Amino acid sequence: MGFRCNIGLHPWNGCKCPECGKIRDDQHDWLKDCETCSICGKKRENMHTWINPGGMCSKCRKTKPSNSALQCAGCKKEYEIGKNAVAVCLDSPAIPGMQIIVVYDDETEKVDLVAPIDPSNKGAFERAKPGWKTIREGLSNHQQRKWKCNVCNHVNSYPDFYSDLS
Ligand SMILES: [Zn+2]
Ligand SMILES: [Zn+2]
Ligand SMILES: [Zn+2]
Ligand SMILES: [Zn+2]
Repeated sequence: MGFRCNIGLHPWNGCKCPECGKIRDDQHDWLKDCETCSICGKKRENMHTWINPGGMCSKCRKTKPSNSALQCAGCKKEYEIGKNAVAVCLDSPAIPGMQIIVVYDDETEKVDLVAPIDPSNKGAFERAKPGWKTIREGLSNHQQRKWKCNVCNHVNSYPDFYSDLS
């Protein structure tokens, strides 16, 4: 450790001292990723500036994470519709191998069901596609829809940008 570091005069390069490796909570480098410091790896949330919903960050150029990822606020599980999960609504055709009963609580709010499914179950994804299309069309028409997690039964809102996805 250099003499300067010993007396607290670190030759800071951003948030890190190149001599002793000390990190300070100041001058982080958010240029490459608005939410992760490229020097020390510090994280922060909700800092991207999305150019359009589902698009790219105007500051760091990162692309918005997967269009279809839904995270359950209850169990924190992440669902990618068509990859590891299906979403079904009342109008969906039956999905073989799945016990799904969708109940709409009232006329004004539609609650869809999102359930994890084995990624190799291609047939189920195909069967679920029209239901997902119906849901997406409903969202883009500003229908009041929510989705229920089939694992923990928590009822979630769809992310705002869902109504702008094509
Ligand atoms: Zn130092
Ligand atoms: Zn940093
Ligand atoms: Zn960004
Ligand atoms: Zn859940």
